[in-house]
Amino acid sequence: MRMVWDRGVTCVRERTEKWESDVLSPRAALSSRTRGRERDEEPCPVRTDYQRDRDRIIHSKAFRRLKGKTQVFFSPAGDHYRTRMTHTLEVSQVARTLARALLLNEDLTEAIALGHDLGHTPFGHAGEDVLDELMEGGFHHSRQSVRVVTVLENDGLGLNPTFEVTDGILNHTKGSGKIATTGPQDSPATLEAEIVRFSDVIAYVNHDLDDALRAGLLRPGDLPDAVTRVMGDSHSKRIHSLVMGILEATEPGSSEHVSMEEERYEALTGLRDFMYERVYLHPTVTRELGKAKAILGLLWDALMDGEPLRRELVGAAADERAVADFLAGMTDAYAVSLHERLYIPNRWYHG
Ligand code: MG
Repeated sequence: MRMVWDRGVTCVRERTEKWESDVLSPRAALSSRTRGRERDEEPCPVRTDYQRDRDRIIHSKAFRRLKGKTQVFFSPAGDHYRTRMTHTLEVSQVARTLARALLLNEDLTEAIALGHDLGHTPFGHAGEDVLDELMEGGFHHSRQSVRVVTVLENDGLGLNPTFEVTDGILNHTKGSGKIATTGPQDSPATLEAEIVRFSDVIAYVNHDLDDALRAGLLRPGDLPDAVTRVMGDSHSKRIHSLVMGILEATEPGSSEHVSMEEERYEALTGLRDFMYERVYLHPTVTRELGKAKAILGLLWDALMDGEPLRRELVGAAADERAVADFLAGMTDAYAVSLHERLYIPNRWYHG
């Protein structure tokens, strides 16, 4: 490929870096100004550092396993329910739209979005609660996602991500509290990370609502009036209205933080509260997840108490940390089949 370059530019990556500094907002994270990686690497001639991080995440094994991990509905039989993988892709879609509109770094935003849930356990938050109770020092999927990209992937070498990607993954959620950044104490290092934090909530409340309607747990008329009035009466209208709520309240280049127009912010948090009450804590959902919790607890016991099994599955030097990494990495189906192998007697065939 023969190309004619601008002055001072010698490769595709440099052209993109120049484009970023010419076009993006002064508050955008420029890939050429990254705080860098834990281990220095030769730059790629084609891709920026953030594009490279995004691609490493897509090629990781932990990313592929997201397809087998529960979002809300445990091992759904229907083909149209979300999994942790499709959740991740929907977060990424919303986040990229926002990043581009706000003249922020779309590649960094995408890398954070695609990596944010890599450390999620099987069986959704139920699995996370089990590990949190069992592990000394507790367990949280954000910290585990950072472990996946910095340590566990690539046969224990990690993906050596840039500081900004690691920071965005670590700070992608504040739990069920306020979504917007309130000050330096809960502020990630980049606005791109703040975008992912909003996009995660925008994506999950809307797709979980869609799945709950599909499952018959909710009917359209059950939604609080304020939600329908402010956000609209369809999945796409609701997402569009929330995205517009951010674009109206956040000024590219001058806003210090990403925020959402007040009425839509209230409607979004109202919808999230409604989802907790009516879906996430619904007996039909929690009953199945209760069984899943019991399975993970039993697997933990079997691995912690049984040295030969631990050596076989996790490794000779496996400690509590390694067992937690192993359990957290499992898909739902893997956890169920290991439980079956360890705890359910084989059928006896003869004759
Ligand atoms: Mg998420």
